[in-house]
Amino acid sequence: MAKVSKTSKTAKKITKKVRAPKALKASKAAKRAKGPKAAKTSAAPRIKGTPWKTDKWFVSPWNYEPEVVKQFKFPPAKDIKIHDITLRDGEQQAGIAYSLEDKLRIARALAEAGVHRIETGMPAVSKVDEAAIKEIVQANFGPDIFAFSRCMVSDVKLAKECGVKGVVVEIPSSEHIIKHAYGWDLQKAIDLSIEATLLCKELGLYTVWFPIDASRADLNWFLDLIEEISTKGHMDALAVVDTFGGISPHAVPYLIKKIRERVKKPLEPHFHDDFGMGVANTLMALACGCTVAHTTVTGIGERAGNAAMEELVLALLTMYGIDIGIKTEKFYSLSKLVRELSCTTIPSNRPIVGETLLSVESGIVASWVRRCRAENPLELGPFIPSLVGQNPVEIVMGKSSGIDCVAEWLERMNADASLEQREAIVLKVKEASIQKKGLLTQEEFKKIYDSVAHG
Ligand SMILES: [Zn+2]
Repeated sequence: MAKVSKTSKTAKKITKKVRAPKALKASKAAKRAKGPKAAKTSAAPRIKGTPWKTDKWFVSPWNYEPEVVKQFKFPPAKDIKIHDITLRDGEQQAGIAYSLEDKLRIARALAEAGVHRIETGMPAVSKVDEAAIKEIVQANFGPDIFAFSRCMVSDVKLAKECGVKGVVVEIPSSEHIIKHAYGWDLQKAIDLSIEATLLCKELGLYTVWFPIDASRADLNWFLDLIEEISTKGHMDALAVVDTFGGISPHAVPYLIKKIRERVKKPLEPHFHDDFGMGVANTLMALACGCTVAHTTVTGIGERAGNAAMEELVLALLTMYGIDIGIKTEKFYSLSKLVRELSCTTIPSNRPIVGETLLSVESGIVASWVRRCRAENPLELGPFIPSLVGQNPVEIVMGKSSGIDCVAEWLERMNADASLEQREAIVLKVKEASIQKKGLLTQEEFKKIYDSVAHG
C-alpha cells in the first residue's frame, strides 16, 4: 500500500470527509489543482478528490473523466487479488530453474509485498518442487498457497499432500490444441476435467479450472465446455486463459460477457504478453468485474512472459484510483531478487523496475531536474521513485549532456569553472561519449575537467 508521508490536519479532515482511501489522500498542491471531478459511478468513492495527483504520483486527469469512469465495473478494491505465478508460469521461462531455497526466498518476498496468493509450482515436475511447496506451506508467510496440476487424479492427490489451500488444474481447451498438440479426442479433455475437478472438491481444495488456449478456441465449443465442467465437474473459479497472448484489449469484455452468460463463477484473468498486452488485457478484465489477476514479478514467463504485477498494481493505484493493498515500495527490490535468482536480465528502461529509468542524460531534462527535484519532483515523471522503491533521479554524463549536467557534476566534485570552460567541457564530454558509446564515469569526467581547467 502506498503510504502518504505527511498530511496536514486540514488535509486529513478533507480526506475523511470525501472518504478517499488512505493511498489517495490528496496533497495540498493536488487539492488546488483544477481538473475534472471523479464520476459518480460504482468506482466513485475510491477516486474522489484529485486521485490523479497526490504527493506520490501525477497522471492524466482525463483518466477520471466521468465519461471514462462510467465504463468501469471494477469490483470493490478489497475483492481484487493478485495470484502470483512467478514460481510456476514464471519458472517456465526458458532457462529459469529455482532451487528450493530460491522458491522460499521469493515466496517470502512476495508475502512481504502483500501479494494475496502464491502459485508455488507443480509438485509433479520434480521432487524439489514438491518439497518447496510443502516448505512454503509450512512457513505460513501469509498469502494463500496454491499448486498447479494437470487434470489428472495423481497430480491432484500430490497437490493435496503438499498441504496447499487451492489448486489450479489445467486442461487443453481449444479443439485444435487438444487434437494437434495433445493428440487426444475432444471427449478426453472433458472426461479428465470432470474427474479431476470432482476429486479437487472431494479433497477440499479451492479449485481454479484452467482451460489452456481458451482465447483461440471456437467460442461455442469453449462455452459448451465450461458449462459442462461447471455443472458435471466442479470449479470454484474459472481462469480466463490467453495462453498465447493473442486476445486484444477490446475483445476481453466480449469474452467475459459470453463466459458470464454460461458460468456464474469468479473469473481469474491469466494473460500472456506476446503482443505486450498482458497488463492492458488484465486491466480490461478487472474493469469487467473479474477479481483475481494472475501475474508474475516483472512479467517473467514463457516466451514474452505474463502480465507484470508491478505495472498492473501501479496502474490500478494511480490511473484508476484502486488500492489493492500491495506494498509498491517493494517493487524494485522484489524485481531485483527475482532477476537474481532467475539469472535473467531486463531492458534497462523496463517500466517501474528498470535500472536506468531514473538516469537523466539529456541536458534539457537535467535542467528540469535541477529546478524541480526539491519542490516539484512530479514534473520529472508520473510517480516519485520512492513509490516503487527506486533510487532517486540521477544526472548522468553522456552524448546528450548539456551545461546543467556539467554544473551538477562540478558541484558533486566541489569544483568550479567559467561559462566558457563549461561549454568546452560539454563538447569534450560529447566527443568522449560517442567514442566510448556510453556514459562517462566520474574519473573520465574529471580528466576532461582537468584538461580544460588546468590544461
Ligand atoms: Zn500461462
